Amino acid sequence: MRELVVLGTASQVPTRTRNHNGYLLRWDGEGLLLDPGEGTQRQMTHAGVAASQITRICLTHVHGDHCFGLPGVLARMALDGVEHPVELHYPASGEEVVRALVAVAHAALDLRLRPHGEGGPVAPGLEVAPLAHRVETYGYRLVEPDGRTLLPERLAAAGITGPAVGRLVREGRLGAVRLEDVSVPRPGQRFAFVMDTAECDGAAALADGADLLVAESTFADADADLADAYRHLTAGQAGALARAAGAGTLVLTHFSSRYPDVAPLAAQAAAQAGAARVVAAADLDRVAFPPRRRT
Ligand SMILES: [Zn+2]
Repeated sequence: MRELVVLGTASQVPTRTRNHNGYLLRWDGEGLLLDPGEGTQRQMTHAGVAASQITRICLTHVHGDHCFGLPGVLARMALDGVEHPVELHYPASGEEVVRALVAVAHAALDLRLRPHGEGGPVAPGLEVAPLAHRVETYGYRLVEPDGRTLLPERLAAAGITGPAVGRLVREGRLGAVRLEDVSVPRPGQRFAFVMDTAECDGAAALADGADLLVAESTFADADADLADAYRHLTAGQAGALARAAGAGTLVLTHFSSRYPDVAPLAAQAAAQAGAARVVAAADLDRVAFPPRRRT
């Protein structure tokens, strides 16, 4: 099961219809909670997300709309008896804020602090890259290695069954049968999370080839001067990011409260997004992972 559960979509000031940020990426057995803003615990209840589903928490930066929900979520996880380890990733310069948030939660959890001070891998398949905001900020990218999908009818025709299948996969060949004779390429999937940034190389690197790209879209194109001043993206810039990256689906979020209707922002993004499908996220949306890219 791979899907994005949108818990909140507001920047800075929540509105009657938009909670502060918060996203749960369900990725097979893992649950990555990204940027839990204030109110995330209650949004999880509305979305039907259990605290026990969270295995990893990723903060892009320590502005309140991206992390003030952390103590509540941690306390809830402890209350629900979560026993598995939980890794918490964040920019190293946010250490003091993160430690304060963790301390007030006073949660009996196996929580492992994983600060990063530069771009690169932070866990298997998970990378960060620096973004260009007013404080140290990193976006995230989850990359599944390319693999192969076995074709049962070809395996059967080759007379390969049971443990021999595993041996063929491990060794690439079994007698005269090669793995590529009984399988087809399966491109790995990619997820990218680009929050709170001006246009920058890090955003482009994270978004590259993403099947699902979540990008902030704080301002409309007409407010590009504000986006520039506060180091945020406009909707059109988010769209251009998706196009340059060849992204499959672009999820816009982190909207300024000045836009009661974000349909125009979605249109502005779509105008720049090329072939990418554009979704303006609403709270509690579930965005299915797009089908795998064809090779
Ligand atoms: Zn923000």
